Amino acid sequence: MSDKPLRMSRRDAVKTLVGGLAAVPVMNLVATAAAYAQDLPHVDPATDPTAQALKYQHDATAADRAAAARPGLDPSEQHCGNCNFQMPKSEAEWVPCSLFPGKAVNTNGWCASWTLRVG
Ligand code: SF4
Repeated sequence: MSDKPLRMSRRDAVKTLVGGLAAVPVMNLVATAAAYAQDLPHVDPATDPTAQALKYQHDATAADRAAAARPGLDPSEQHCGNCNFQMPKSEAEWVPCSLFPGKAVNTNGWCASWTLRVG
């Protein structure tokens, strides 16, 4: 064993190790969620009954957002990318939505359940 003094106390070393280990699952969750979203089938507004009921469109500009009169933002600014049901918040083109379990919606899409994202 070396007589060289440790630069870091054992307590500091344990804190660093525990902190690093705690970060790994969080980083994995974020990476897994992003990869998972890209693998999900896309909602098909032509065949999906929920999409039809909610008037979902891949392109928000093609939807009648003004008629839905959703509060929170001007209708022209409402899209899946700033909706509270998108999960998790992402910059990806296709994102999971809690109203369409197991499927992805386009971040530029819109449906009649649009709700302004909180936070
Ligand atoms: S609930 Fe929100 S994220 Fe989901 S499809 Fe509708 S507008 Fe898009």
